[in-house]
Amino acid sequence: MPKNDRRDCPYCKRPAEWYASSELRYGFDFGPMWICRPCGAYTADKPGNTLANAEVRVLRREAHKLFDELWQAAMKLRGWSQGRARSAAYLWLSRQVEMRPEACHMSRMQAADLRRVLEVLRSVRAAAVERRRHAG
Ligand SMILES: [Zn+2]
Repeated sequence: MPKNDRRDCPYCKRPAEWYASSELRYGFDFGPMWICRPCGAYTADKPGNTLANAEVRVLRREAHKLFDELWQAAMKLRGWSQGRARSAAYLWLSRQVEMRPEACHMSRMQAADLRRVLEVLRSVRAAAVERRRHAG
């Protein structure tokens, strides 16, 4: 257990348990993680991460998928490095959803914020598809 660190479960508010992932036998290595068994919620032990239940895991996966498409497109278009494209995209996203940049990471968000992020990312993608349709 990391010293001076604890995570509370965002659903039941109880302190989460810390585990080395090898004990969880999910079949691949998440690294150390926090878990709340009663809620079925967990997260990788990384600074700022919050535990995610099944619903939030689905939302995070979807948001990450669209977000990755976005910065990868910017990388190609502008010839930016992966790091630059990614951090520019995060900064842009934080302005779109009016969150502090340091809070604007999918792994820190819960359902309400993730839904706002998805709304922004989906409308950007729809606009891009529309542009391509007119350009083609
Ligand atoms: Zn819980």
